[in-house]
Amino acid sequence: MIKIQSKATQSEIEVGRYIGKFEADPKLPSVVVFGGIHGNEPSGVFALQVVCDHIIKNEIKINGSFYAISGNMCALPKGKRYCETDLNRIWTHQHLDVLKVDPIGEDELPSEYLQMKEIMNEIEYIIARNKGPIYFIDLHTTSSQSCPFIPINDTLANRAFAMKFPVPIVLGIEEFIEGPLLSYINEIDHVCLGFEGGQHDDKKSIQHQIAFVSLSLLYANLITKIEFPDYLEYLNALQQACKEEKGVYEILYKYELKQDDHFCMLPGFKSFDRIAKNQRLAEHNGKMVCSKEEGKIFMPLYQSQGEDGFFIIRSVSQFWLLLSAKLRQFRMEKFLICLPGVSRDIKNPKALRIDKNTARFLAKEIFHLLGFRMKKKENNVLIFTRRERI
Ligand SMILES: [Zn+2]
Repeated sequence: MIKIQSKATQSEIEVGRYIGKFEADPKLPSVVVFGGIHGNEPSGVFALQVVCDHIIKNEIKINGSFYAISGNMCALPKGKRYCETDLNRIWTHQHLDVLKVDPIGEDELPSEYLQMKEIMNEIEYIIARNKGPIYFIDLHTTSSQSCPFIPINDTLANRAFAMKFPVPIVLGIEEFIEGPLLSYINEIDHVCLGFEGGQHDDKKSIQHQIAFVSLSLLYANLITKIEFPDYLEYLNALQQACKEEKGVYEILYKYELKQDDHFCMLPGFKSFDRIAKNQRLAEHNGKMVCSKEEGKIFMPLYQSQGEDGFFIIRSVSQFWLLLSAKLRQFRMEKFLICLPGVSRDIKNPKALRIDKNTARFLAKEIFHLLGFRMKKKENNVLIFTRRERI
């Protein structure tokens, strides 16, 4: 058990790995929610505690299984993003293989590896037990002020579930962030949404997360509207918080930092603020950073730990969303490999290799449209991958 403090509510709670575990017939759907994968984001854990207490106190019947799981139990009591390495950047084969090779030498590995191993064991247990659809949700908050939003890997299944909520959706996180829990779960082919509730220490972030988790239980058919009379209130709370920002966005650009860099955002930016080309945004190692393109600023960094300075996003049209859904359903990517400069990656059948010299005419957007995301650059070759689930 660990003790976690909330600056937002000036309170403390004690939790274990499971904040709540409600199991039913394995054939029914399941919802799995993580809170506090980042240790300085305790509001997810507090929100999950409220939802679990509410279910127990009101004896709400759940037609499926619901798991509320604590994230980084090493960093949460310290109120730090992580202890030794970011738990939301190590869900890659490279790091997971370290655990397979050296399952006993945990003492020498960063403490986050042990956290990852414990969480992975629970994910494996949940997937082995439950045969109905499983919806994974990862609760976060941001260092800057922000309206709530849903970051997802762009699959049609993720889109369909995310679009049930009156909250802006941000696609394409997998191309810019290496090793988040979201991408790992998507690789094992389950629906997985992130939910960013607002600023780390804002009371409203906890309210938004309570609303989001409760509505997820409703939309995944674990509870009915009759048993859940508060749902309109929760829907309204999210609608009000996202009055200005609606629709779907795509990440265009990330401003990357290295460890020990000195980075300072200029004050006053919040996610979804419009920015102009050449606008002054931050100071990095003594130099001014200006925007390379116009768009909207996203997740500007106002804390010392973290390696993503800021992102730039732009809105995605309804037409693009519909077109990409149709093209993916018809598996149009099979025509791509007939084009010069495009070949299948022999190491990974889900990946395509694009020779930029020969296939210069093929823009990244075409691959995005078909559900591929760029994973690697090797000299003049770009490697795009796609999951089974489109
Ligand atoms: Zn986070």
